Amino acid sequence: SRQIELASRPEGVPKKSNFKTTTTELSPIADGEFLVKNEWMSVDPYMRGRMKAGESYVPPFEIGKPLEGGCLGKVVESRHPDFAEGDTVLGNLGWREYWKSRGEGVTKVDPDLAPVQAYLGVLGMTGLTAWVGLNKIARLQEGNTVFVSAASGAVGSVVCQLAKAKGCRVIGSAGSPAKLEWLKEAAGVDAVINYKETDDLVGELKRHAPDGIDVYFDNVGGDHLEAALEVMNRYGCCVECGMISTYNATEPPAAPRNLFQIIGKRIRLEGFIVRDHTDCQDEFIAEMASLIAAGKVVWEESVAEGLEQAPDAFIGLFEGENMGKQLVRLDVE
Ligand code: NDP
Repeated sequence: SRQIELASRPEGVPKKSNFKTTTTELSPIADGEFLVKNEWMSVDPYMRGRMKAGESYVPPFEIGKPLEGGCLGKVVESRHPDFAEGDTVLGNLGWREYWKSRGEGVTKVDPDLAPVQAYLGVLGMTGLTAWVGLNKIARLQEGNTVFVSAASGAVGSVVCQLAKAKGCRVIGSAGSPAKLEWLKEAAGVDAVINYKETDDLVGELKRHAPDGIDVYFDNVGGDHLEAALEVMNRYGCCVECGMISTYNATEPPAAPRNLFQIIGKRIRLEGFIVRDHTDCQDEFIAEMASLIAAGKVVWEESVAEGLEQAPDAFIGLFEGENMGKQLVRLDVE
């Protein structure tokens, strides 16, 4: 079975040389175990944090050990009472072809409900992140003006559409004309900003939100957060979901330099981690399924073909190469 290991810890932007493909022998499964062949895996910005030494909110990946992450596969052999050959399962042992399990943390998914890979995206962790951030952290109200950064990404694209479905005005920022086009045409966002083509994010935001922003859904941090604080309304909320602009920083980032704004404007700045909110799973799936059925949530996937493409797909997240959810499809013969 092939797998991708962390060969060395990245300095700055990750490089291909930080990864290494190795092969291991699969030992037979024991009683109470089953064997899964991965068909899909997810690459996610948070994995960059795990490539650093030292504990963040998840323990670091170890050098010389395979990486981990969300994955979907089929049970190909089972000696477990609850998992049968042919079941499609969601697990956390991506970056490899095969894995064995006793079932902890593994869930079966219904492959007839949606294309299975949606359980890694819009119906999975990234969709739940968007839902929790808006409903539990921002406590979004109809009529709010919402600013979303990395708006065409996996989380951002769902945030935009959930906010639109709730009757909010949505402003999205992203890094290419094609992404802005998708946000307006497919996601129904009210106004868009190409942050790479302006050096005046505050001016752009003021132009699109003359009455200020009530909720900022932060995926980027840095200059985006600074600009949002400047244009935020009193009692507004910054949902601190991610700060991708800082993940490869080799020096501590400077912005936001205007943090004092949170006092005068009584801004709530609240971070969250999606895995603390798994109790929302059923409510999230029910709402999401009905929005998808009503055509109110659509999504894009960027698919890299083959396990060996996973490092490039991961690195591409920091170059903005993905549109919507970045996935890797493993070779299925
Ligand atoms: P995305 O699909 O949004 O992919 C990352 C995108 O970020 C890129 O496509 C790129 O789009 C944008 N980007 C990359 N570098 C920069 C930069 N320097 N400045 C501005 N934008 C940049 O990834 P996800 O949806 O999976 O994740 C989005 C955010 O949510 C991340 O910050 C992630 O860490 C966070 N997250 C947090 C979770 C939590 O529990 N708190 C759970 C899941 C995700 P563009 O072309 O627009 O630049």
